[in-house]
Amino acid sequence: MTAIPAQVLASRRLAMSFRKSNSPEGESTYPVKLDEEALKKSLDSLSFDVLRNGATERPFTGEYVDTETIGIYRCKACSSELFRSETKFHSGCGWPSFYAPTSGDAVELIEDRSLFPRVRTEVRCANCGSHLGHVFEGEGYDVPTDQRWCINSVSLFLEAK
Ligand SMILES: [Zn+2]
Repeated sequence: MTAIPAQVLASRRLAMSFRKSNSPEGESTYPVKLDEEALKKSLDSLSFDVLRNGATERPFTGEYVDTETIGIYRCKACSSELFRSETKFHSGCGWPSFYAPTSGDAVELIEDRSLFPRVRTEVRCANCGSHLGHVFEGEGYDVPTDQRWCINSVSLFLEAK
């Protein structure tokens, strides 16, 4: 792997200050307000469960695990752009993996203590607040950011170019 200067790596480190989570009981502050009932009717139950309840699809079952099609990955709930195929890589982890989102503004990072003492970083769509997956870094993958954005296939749809 090509050596990346330490300061470049540092600048790419995930921001460790997290926005306060939009709690289920609180009023959503996301730009897009989803109609939960309409969404539930339009999506299959697994997609809804992942996007809106933070569930996880079983590894190696997702539609996009091995996909190499060129295109844009969008949020299945609100259609906003999240990832591009150029940053997708084969991590072998069983879920579609990207080394970076299209832009930092596209996603929201939330500290996830649901498997405490393991603390993970949850990734949500910044536009509608839907759960996408988690991001890990420092795992040693040969990618420019040393990050693995581990995203559920069912939270995405691919707009092929
Ligand atoms: Zn969304």
